[in-house]
Amino acid sequence: MTDVGIRRIFSSEHDIFRESVRKFFLEEVTPHHTEWEKAGEVSREVWEKAGRQGLLGVNIAEKHGGVGGDLYSAAVVWEEQAYSNCTGPGFSLHSDIVMPYIANYGSEEQIQRLIPKMTAGQCIGAIAMTEPGAGSDLQGVRTHAKKDGSDWILNGSKVFITNGWMSDLVIVVAVTNREARSPAHGISLFLVENGMKGFIKGRKLQKMGMKAQDTAELFFEDVRLPASALLGQENNGFYYLMAELPQERLLIAELAVSACEFMFEETRSYVKQRKAFGKTVAHLQTVQHKLAELKTRICVTRAFVDSCLQLHAAKRLDSATASMAKYWASELQNSVAYECVQLHGGWGYMWEYPIAKAYVDARVQPIYGGTNEIMKELIAREIVRDK
Ligand SMILES: Cc1cc2nc3c(=O)[nH]c(=O)nc-3n(C[C@H](O)[C@H](O)[C@H](O)COP(=O)(O)OP(=O)(O)OC[C@H]3O[C@@H](n4cnc5c(N)ncnc54)[C@H](O)[C@@H]3O)c2cc1C
Repeated sequence: MTDVGIRRIFSSEHDIFRESVRKFFLEEVTPHHTEWEKAGEVSREVWEKAGRQGLLGVNIAEKHGGVGGDLYSAAVVWEEQAYSNCTGPGFSLHSDIVMPYIANYGSEEQIQRLIPKMTAGQCIGAIAMTEPGAGSDLQGVRTHAKKDGSDWILNGSKVFITNGWMSDLVIVVAVTNREARSPAHGISLFLVENGMKGFIKGRKLQKMGMKAQDTAELFFEDVRLPASALLGQENNGFYYLMAELPQERLLIAELAVSACEFMFEETRSYVKQRKAFGKTVAHLQTVQHKLAELKTRICVTRAFVDSCLQLHAAKRLDSATASMAKYWASELQNSVAYECVQLHGGWGYMWEYPIAKAYVDARVQPIYGGTNEIMKELIAREIVRDK
């Protein structure tokens, strides 16, 4: 996927790493993906293989039990998964959304016990914020934890949880102080582990796309949690979420622009071999102009997302800029998906063609990680804020 634009953020070591990551997706993921789409989940084996190959927890410090690579190395894994067009394994959510919470806010005991297993792919992570009645408005969370001696008793339910069905560990957002001066001041994060009494996994949800990625409902019925299950400080959960969400949004933007590059290359190959009116479709000037438009829009977006990656690597990516990247790149992904299916004609609507899968997989990107309407709220708030 190097034909779309010129990248300046990677070194030759990243390129070598990329080769091995590409080989992994080609050999260990792509051949099984259709089977996983039918099952609605991937194998546990692929998680362990990814762990053995050093593809999980790439950007988590070695001293914490991660791989110790830089942000760009983690981005290589995100990009290569997008280029493989296989959304099944929820590696990036596990490595770059869930693991940082533990590495950044966890106790020494939590870090030592959980991070090495997560890096090895032996403990699959999920994060449960959304509830049937609380999505965009996280302050509407009802799941709550009540103190009982030094323990906590957790009750409530969550929905749409990526990796939820396969998870061994879930970070659960719960209310711990109903009397707080605002709901944001009374939210905490808990580490809930598979097998705990009262932790029930509900249905695997049937999705429009991303069919091999498990998305589940989770229920908590009087789950007794030891004090050591609290992640970070009591009632500080909302601040941790706000601090970590920019990385989640950058990740979605990165996946989005990489998916655009994949769809573009797929379509370029298709129109160069598909014949109509005695010539290839690529000979038609209207098609050429469409490809020129797509390439330009993708390259411009890639330049912005790469600059966001650089800002984030320097710890300077703010929430509004990450929101701009997420909103812009995920909208572009859907627009590119639409145009690329169109350029495939009827075959573009057939599941056997990768572009059909890319089209349905794109649809959720403007929805999760905070909807694009919420992204615009965050961007706008910063614009009109009195400084
Ligand atoms: C496949 C998938 C995977 C997911 N994975 C996870 C996960 O791992 N963990 C997790 O916690 N959640 C996850 N989610 C949930 C996701 O983050 C939420 O669906 C999303 O935040 C939107 O919340 P909602 O569905 O309740 O929509 P609502 O909040 O009900 O929104 C409905 C509509 O109203 C609009 N709206 C709401 N408030 C405003 C406002 N203030 N201004 C303008 N418009 C507004 C929204 O933009 C949207 O268009 C996942 C969702 C999906 C579909």
